[in-house]
Amino acid sequence: MSALAPPRPLEGAISWNMNTTCNYRCTYCTQRFKDDRGKWAKDVDAYIAFFASLEGRWEVKLSGGEPFVHPRLEDVVAGIARAGHRVSVVTNFSAEREALTAFREAAGEQLRIFSCSLHLEYVPDLEAWLDKVTWLQAALPAAATLNVHSVATRASLPRLDAIRAAHERRGVVFKVQPEKQEGRVIAYAPAERDAVLALGGHNLLGEVAPSFEGLPCWAGARYFILDENGDAYRCYPARRRRKERLGNVLDGTFALREDARPCPYDYCNCTVPIERGMMPRAEKT
Ligand code: SF4
Ligand code: SF4
Repeated sequence: MSALAPPRPLEGAISWNMNTTCNYRCTYCTQRFKDDRGKWAKDVDAYIAFFASLEGRWEVKLSGGEPFVHPRLEDVVAGIARAGHRVSVVTNFSAEREALTAFREAAGEQLRIFSCSLHLEYVPDLEAWLDKVTWLQAALPAAATLNVHSVATRASLPRLDAIRAAHERRGVVFKVQPEKQEGRVIAYAPAERDAVLALGGHNLLGEVAPSFEGLPCWAGARYFILDENGDAYRCYPARRRRKERLGNVLDGTFALREDARPCPYDYCNCTVPIERGMMPRAEKT
């Protein structure tokens, strides 16, 4: 398949898995087999210096593990904002309101997307959850957005339509993410697959398992993922396969590519570059 790459994105994006630490142990967590779930990016000042060295404006999306258990989260956020980049975060939203307020204040007007993962195994009271979500949404700067997403497990799928409706009644965007095992979407039955699509598909993209194989993608040049050790890869499928490593941002070996290159992977779960238009969207038949 051939297609032209979309225009070079003006703003780059980084998904930083800043720690493996988490206060939850979700049964479907893709990191639950990691040997060490207590690691975090320790050399915060070196990371901030790296972000400050990047040319142009970038969006740094913080994830983990759970970013709010990182002991220096506020310093990280303030440093990224000071460098002129924008800050997004994906969190299990278990942090106290005081910590959420401190995060919002540290990011200031540089806050872009606040993404809350609804882990139903840990949220017995949906109304209390919605109260907290709408409280934060009302306090965000005008340029920032908030969304809630939840993993569509076989157990939760029958509940998700009502849960989506409850969010929409409160003015909150709700998305589902298909469950993954070992880097692949689980083998949903046809009716389950239809239910996931009826909920908007993977992060409202209208597909269960997006693929851009063979198409040019700016990941590696205008997007990359960064782990808690400073290692950078083109995107999540690249990291999973330990391919297309871009070096390490702490030891001086990091180098971005210049151009968009064809995607060699048959499944793309990288919502950040998809939503930011870094590859052509294939025609659906
Ligand atoms: S909150 Fe996220 S990182 Fe933590 S256990 Fe659940 S899925 Fe894994
Ligand atoms: S898997 Fe997605 S982000 Fe990675 S190269 Fe392919 S299209 Fe780009």
